[in-house]
Amino acid sequence: MVVAPKSHIPLVHDLINPFETALAQYERATNRLQLDENVVEYMKWPHREFTVNFPVKRDTGKVEMFTGYRVHHSTVMGPSKGGIRFSTNVTLDEVRALAMWMTWKCALVNLPYGGAKGGVLVDPKALSAHEIEALTRRYASELIPLISPHSDIPAPDMGTTPQMMAWIMDTYSMTVGYAVPAIVTGKPINIGGSQGRTEATGRGVVVTMMEALKRHGRNTPGDIRVVIQGFGNVGSHAAAHAHDMGYKVVAVSDVYGGIYNANGLNIPSVRSYVAETGGLTGYPNAEPVSNDELLVLPCEVLIPAAMEGQITEHNAGDIQAQFIVEGANGPTTPEADDIINDRGIVLVPDILANAGGVVVSYFEWVQDLQAFFWDEEEIFRQLERILIKAYDATMRTVEEYNVDMRTAAQMTAIKRVADALMTRGFYP
Ligand code: GLU
Repeated sequence: MVVAPKSHIPLVHDLINPFETALAQYERATNRLQLDENVVEYMKWPHREFTVNFPVKRDTGKVEMFTGYRVHHSTVMGPSKGGIRFSTNVTLDEVRALAMWMTWKCALVNLPYGGAKGGVLVDPKALSAHEIEALTRRYASELIPLISPHSDIPAPDMGTTPQMMAWIMDTYSMTVGYAVPAIVTGKPINIGGSQGRTEATGRGVVVTMMEALKRHGRNTPGDIRVVIQGFGNVGSHAAAHAHDMGYKVVAVSDVYGGIYNANGLNIPSVRSYVAETGGLTGYPNAEPVSNDELLVLPCEVLIPAAMEGQITEHNAGDIQAQFIVEGANGPTTPEADDIINDRGIVLVPDILANAGGVVVSYFEWVQDLQAFFWDEEEIFRQLERILIKAYDATMRTVEEYNVDMRTAAQMTAIKRVADALMTRGFYP
């Protein structure tokens, strides 16, 4: 992989380009649908792309330049929706891919949204608390022409937190002169955040995992070994919920590597260890494993919940899991998809498996706009209802077209956006 130079000027990944993955998936899905060719061409293109280079004054007094993006892939179904990522891997093509996946994800779960994504090329852990606040606020103020509760609503993603969403909400609110909670989702609850939003993505991953297992007659949680790559917001909450539901979580990992215990990890104790030490390294009662080894451990369910391009043609043949549930966006390359499908592994695709986050973001936005808040029980009940409905819709497409679940989920979503586009017509 190309390492960005000190100046942070972005280079495109030369190894796996996520936008190439997204376009290859799009081609597969649209090849099976009888759509107007103008519509197919239109939906391939990101609608708007914004690049900004902006200064942040470091604690030393030196001013450093950072690069950020925001891509609106589609606004056909409503305002665009999608998270903001702070990572040193951010490229325009990555943000384009993530924005396109948001369009399909929102359409699959029937939210009145288009898709967007933002990213800043930065390692948030390398900045002080004051510097990260300055960076977040400056990026938010650069986004003001592009965002509003009725045009584009950001949220957290890799490397961003509820506190950062609070700074975005505050920056926008101070600019317009009044508090606008609905400008961003994934906020802390005391400023208009929703119950259950923090856990929503990980919880949704487990809801869809359970649905997949149930449909294959695997109804004894204690016999199901689960391996999770990634212990950020998605992976850690998926691990916690799977553990609470009686599944045996045998391995988890973070960027530095993983831990494995064939008899099952005590997830509450792993989470306390991470809260105390900042990582999984050195956790007692488990063997250390590398991230590469983790993906091919013996288990029934593999949950990639880290980042794109993890399951490739190089390791797909060695995966031992019978189910893959994608907590991350785009963790599997199209070449790996072919191997996984040939091997008969059930793969619950990202736009279905990790849609829980944006579903509860939608609940948060609705609650903010109505200034009327729901309790956690109501949130989780509605979340489950929506995810199961999207699972059913995906399986109907699997059966009707005899395709794999990823292609089916994308076909279902793309068809909805295409129909809406045809109804609206091409302007002017
Ligand atoms: N970043 C999350 C995702 O990839 C959530 C987006 C949102 O809540 O708007 O789905």
